[in-house]
Amino acid sequence: MTTMAVSPLATQQPTERKHRVPITVAYGDGIGPEIMEATLNILHAAGAQIEPSVIEIGEAVYKRGVTAGIEPRAWDVLRDTRVFLKAPITTPQGGGFKSLNVTVRKTLGLYANVRPCVAYAPYVKTRHPGMDVVIIRENEEDLYGGIEHQQTDEVVQCLKLITRPGCEKIVRYAFEYAVRTGRKKVSCFTKDNIMKLTDGLFHRVFDEISREYPQIETEHLIVDIGAARLVDTPERFDVIVLPNLYGDILSDVAAQMSGSVGLAGSANIGEHGAMFEAIHGSAPTLPRNVANPSGLLNAAMLMLEHVGQQQCAARIRNAWLKTLEDGIHTEDVAAESTRATVGTKQFAEAVMERLGKEPEYLKKAAPASAISIANASTGHTRVQPRKKELLGVDIFVGRPGVSPDALAALLRRCETTNLKLQMITNRGVKVWPNGLPETFCTDHWRCRFISSHPIDSAEVVALMFGLNNASIDVIKTENLYTFDGTPGFSLGQGQ
Ligand code: NAD
Repeated sequence: MTTMAVSPLATQQPTERKHRVPITVAYGDGIGPEIMEATLNILHAAGAQIEPSVIEIGEAVYKRGVTAGIEPRAWDVLRDTRVFLKAPITTPQGGGFKSLNVTVRKTLGLYANVRPCVAYAPYVKTRHPGMDVVIIRENEEDLYGGIEHQQTDEVVQCLKLITRPGCEKIVRYAFEYAVRTGRKKVSCFTKDNIMKLTDGLFHRVFDEISREYPQIETEHLIVDIGAARLVDTPERFDVIVLPNLYGDILSDVAAQMSGSVGLAGSANIGEHGAMFEAIHGSAPTLPRNVANPSGLLNAAMLMLEHVGQQQCAARIRNAWLKTLEDGIHTEDVAAESTRATVGTKQFAEAVMERLGKEPEYLKKAAPASAISIANASTGHTRVQPRKKELLGVDIFVGRPGVSPDALAALLRRCETTNLKLQMITNRGVKVWPNGLPETFCTDHWRCRFISSHPIDSAEVVALMFGLNNASIDVIKTENLYTFDGTPGFSLGQGQ
């Protein structure tokens, strides 16, 4: 790792802050170094009060055998500055390498991924000229815990974890963001008609918190119809808040719809730090001096807003919009409105030449209304312990080539005084009692044992003991609890 301070800023402008804000910068791989250089040049010319320290991340670090793609010492710099401007990196092919983004997000607790997706029509070609949507994606939970297991020869599992504090943080952030940036509506997409507990919690928290923001219009849509409407009429959306996986997919879809993957930047915001980056990758096959630096530049503008330099961010944004309006474009967005197709360096120079100018047609950035997206109140409550009672257990059994009735007969011999076999499902479909012979069954069975009244966990242990003696392959168990009398488990089969 190399750590160095970049030379003092060339041009000093009136700024909101007297001191320079220390930030961490990583030049990344592929087009990373050239778009970072272009971006920093613009920031310096605009008078951004930043003090960058450079760390090395990415391909070279991975190839040195550091599977996380970042040297342990670089964390000290990151934890010191707490603000990270990151160029894209190349993840080497093959197994064993961890996603640097996931590691940084989780280590710094960057729970909110914020991605404005704005159309710049007619200067950038898009089918959705009125699009101006901000996607706010939960960044830490859901299926991204990486908790996966092969359970039987035929079945693998990935655990989806959703927490109440996690939902509260992201939903409150989305509402605070909307209020602070003058947006009018927050939409929430989940799949809670199927995942009633996990997505259901996200939806419920959305409903609860929305009541604290009566001035903001709200709606909840099932993610499939929400996605369909987003790609059809993005103008009907303003801010969209989503759990991690849906947000991951739809934020890329939305960015592409707005024009080019080369345009959008994103912010990863947490209580202990923030990371800013373009949404695209390192484009390793792109020839030199062709890449559009706008994605990273937009991320850098989000960073300036985050550290309280809104005026500087607005100054850069207006110069950048003016550059687009003047038809000075990189190859990826070149269209009928293009007057000059330029390289990365020349595009940056064009933006610098226009500092102080404003766009005539595109919506100009107004510093007065630009409000920091940092320090939003992201409070969350810790849930008060409720009365938790054990009512039964789901035993997951691995057994190939058995019929549901034969398996039930085996299991019923292991029932205890209170724990009785209630049902068997296969891939969530009930196959006993009263299953249908047409149902396709794998070697993976969920067998529910339930009691009519609360039991002691010793009874589950006794059941397990009996199953073990009967040579039944127990893959895992999941206790069935009630919380203040309400079942904390799904009751039947999925839809
Ligand atoms: P990519 O985003 O690098 O490229 C996709 C397409 O978009 C390519 O045609 C590319 O030429 C074009 N493109 C991307 N950025 C552009 C820009 N600024 N200007 C003009 N055209 C641009 O995605 P990929 O090809 O799937 O991935 C390449 C590498 O990037 C992989 O190693 C991947 O793991 C990595 N990656 C890194 C990040 C990150 O660091 N955040 C994100 C995505 C992918």
